[in-house]
Amino acid sequence: MPTTLLQPGQIEAAAGSIPELRLPPADLFLARARRLEQLAGQHTLGDYLRFVARLARAQHECLTAGPEARLPTPERLAQCREYRMPPLGPAGLAKPSGWRDIARHLARAVQPALPAAGQAALRPILQGQDAWLDEQAARLFEGDTQHLDAAVAPLIGAALQVHWTHLARQLDPAQVARPEHPNLCPVCGSHPVSSVVRIGGAENGLRYLHCALCSSEWHVVRAKCSNCDNTRGVTYHYLEGGDNVVRAESCPECRTYLKIVHQDKDPLADPVADDLASLTLDLLMDEAGFARSGVNWYLIQGHP
Ligand SMILES: [Zn+2]
Ligand SMILES: [Zn+2]
Repeated sequence: MPTTLLQPGQIEAAAGSIPELRLPPADLFLARARRLEQLAGQHTLGDYLRFVARLARAQHECLTAGPEARLPTPERLAQCREYRMPPLGPAGLAKPSGWRDIARHLARAVQPALPAAGQAALRPILQGQDAWLDEQAARLFEGDTQHLDAAVAPLIGAALQVHWTHLARQLDPAQVARPEHPNLCPVCGSHPVSSVVRIGGAENGLRYLHCALCSSEWHVVRAKCSNCDNTRGVTYHYLEGGDNVVRAESCPECRTYLKIVHQDKDPLADPVADDLASLTLDLLMDEAGFARSGVNWYLIQGHP
């Protein structure tokens, strides 16, 4: 009997209407912190993962407190949808002064866990002028890592994540247009950290890209390069002897890769935490000649 092989996109299309956009849940940072604590156990980067876990817990506190942040006007949201523009693009959005308080709160929360040198490195956030903090944020948005203060960049990034995640949570998926290209977040236009295969409900088995800034997730079929849309010759790489929860999806056209984190192999897997805990895979991909397309703001200066 002849067998018809369906490609991943066809399988997903055949399943009927699927959620194209997942806006961030309330416990996003808490779940991330728990996953980081779990991964830190026997890990060679255990101390680093525990540090980020502490940071993620502090992010959860700030998000729960409900930072001051207002969505663009309904007219602006409708306009963005009509022209298929991300409604929360950082360029068109003012940062309320509250974001700096979040940055300072995060710095105070992680400071006790750091050695003396690390504590001193956080001083610019705690004592820095508002203008200096705004300038650091602008550099982070521009991807200007050369002029960023390396020690404080993850804290600045974490504060901006809280702010944008809070904004994204106030949206309705119907207010956001489908992106023309799958490489940038349809909500805020930022790059993805990695991608994640979700389990349960209508999302079961679907792959979503996870936004580095606003924590929204958008659906992109598997075996498709999210950087250049190519579907030919996409290859998966993993570490020998590993559990395959994290693999790297590489593209022979643009020579980049994005990690794919499998909740179907571990239900607690998290697109940001598991990305940090699999830096060995990044070294392997670098040796194989592929550039990383994912951006992880906890790791903005490269390897810890
Ligand atoms: Zn986003
Ligand atoms: Zn590509």
